[in-house]
Amino acid sequence: MLARTEAEQLVSTVPTEPYFAGRWGSGQSIDTFDVIDPVTERRLTTVAAAGAREVDEAVSHARSALDEGEWGRTDGSARALLLHRLADLIEARSEEFATLESLDIGKPGFEPRAIDLPQAIGAFRYFAGWADKVEGRSVPTPSYMGRPTHSYTVREPVGVVAAITPWNSPTMIGSWKIAPALAAGCAVILKPPEDAPLTSLLLASLIEEAGFPAGAFSVLPGLGAVTGQALIDHPGVDKISFTGSPETGYKVAVAAAKGFRRTTLELGGKSPQIVFGDADLDEAALGVAVGIFANQGEVCAAGSRILVARSVYAEFVERLVARARDIKVGDPFDEGTTMGALINARQLERVSQYVATGIDDGARLIAGGGRPDGKGFFIEPTLFADVDNTMTIARREIFGPVGAIIAFDSESEAVAMANDSDYALAATLWTSDVSRAHVVARRVRAGAVAINGWAPLDPRLPWGGSKLSGQGRELGWAGIEANTEEKTVTAVLSYAPDK
Ligand code: NAD
Repeated sequence: MLARTEAEQLVSTVPTEPYFAGRWGSGQSIDTFDVIDPVTERRLTTVAAAGAREVDEAVSHARSALDEGEWGRTDGSARALLLHRLADLIEARSEEFATLESLDIGKPGFEPRAIDLPQAIGAFRYFAGWADKVEGRSVPTPSYMGRPTHSYTVREPVGVVAAITPWNSPTMIGSWKIAPALAAGCAVILKPPEDAPLTSLLLASLIEEAGFPAGAFSVLPGLGAVTGQALIDHPGVDKISFTGSPETGYKVAVAAAKGFRRTTLELGGKSPQIVFGDADLDEAALGVAVGIFANQGEVCAAGSRILVARSVYAEFVERLVARARDIKVGDPFDEGTTMGALINARQLERVSQYVATGIDDGARLIAGGGRPDGKGFFIEPTLFADVDNTMTIARREIFGPVGAIIAFDSESEAVAMANDSDYALAATLWTSDVSRAHVVARRVRAGAVAINGWAPLDPRLPWGGSKLSGQGRELGWAGIEANTEEKTVTAVLSYAPDK
């Protein structure tokens, strides 16, 4: 791992302009925004923000790349080669990606190295495999007025896809949107998060280097309310693939409804981790701690509601508190740091408010809750015991390292509490009873259930939720379906035998 000063020098190698129509920069003078380091609170760089004019130009170039340009004529095998080349380029520069992701977001370096980068590279390779297999179906249909028919379907790219990503894992989440859309033959316009745009800009430069034709991919940095809003309002965008908060997701859904444009919405969560009385408590305590404290708790699938069987409650809580106390909060570039800083002052204020609300509501603070003195948006890993599922800290997504521990007396009560939430994204079950694990997995309402391990991610597995957690699925075959339209072709054959 590089030292902080070396890491900071890397920033100057990252492009700081929009990329569209196959070139960097808009050719006009446009607004800028500063990118702030969450650990030092210093400016890392300043990035040029695309406005409505750049959005309009990018959409129209993307459209012509599909209709008249080289990208629309690039077949599945050629798209696969480009995606493989891109995966190789990312892999070759994965140290730079991991360093920049740590710097930009404040997360410890082992996380991007173990999760974000392998996931992103894996997604590009996996979807490279689909690119030449986007097939239709042959459908037997009855004769029409005595004449035989021949019917089939073809899958065509949805068109211009706007991909809007959040700041917590921009490389990985960006790849989940870009890889399936490019594999399906769509033109993608990425709007990266203003709080952490660096790795998305680096990725854009590698997409260019991989040789994707002009217009196949664009990146438009900028503020959500300006660049993002202009993009989702643009009638030339055929699909919006959004990951972020339910509040912004709602704006996306409203904008898309005008024109009935397609969406995939990956929103927040308040995911349960259920620890049954027969669980291996050491393993469960480690897994539950990872589930709530990884990435400073800034994870959509964070297992923030920890439901524990009363029979093992005291024993388990003691183990979990020990895990929380083991965490070393600090600068990701310092030796031994296992948890970094929150993304910005607003997020720190928001998480601190939830901690205060937990205390006011009568939950028992058993770990953390405070913040170290000095610079940086740090907060300690925090646990509340004796939480009631109706309390604010059990209902609202905190998006920080705050776990709410709730006791249950029976499996049915655990399932009822798990499902008593406005969200339905992920759930984790800890038990040594294989039958119970699979029965409860079916009863819990969530897009993804993990058994005896925390949210195993894989590009082959569909990802997404329901209720306030969003709609639609990314990854797996679902990722191809989400980026294609199925067209029906029926031919009435003018067939006269023995003519
Ligand atoms: P956010 O909604 O504020 O921002 C997400 C993205 O949307 C950013 O790029 C932002 O610039 C853009 N945006 C903001 N306003 C917009 C507008 N009016 N029009 C278009 N785009 C706009 O969310 P955030 O604070 O960046 O991320 C945190 C949220 O994301 C949490 O709720 C978290 O659970 C969720 N999240 C979900 C997943 C998932 O896969 N389900 C993954 C990561 C994060």
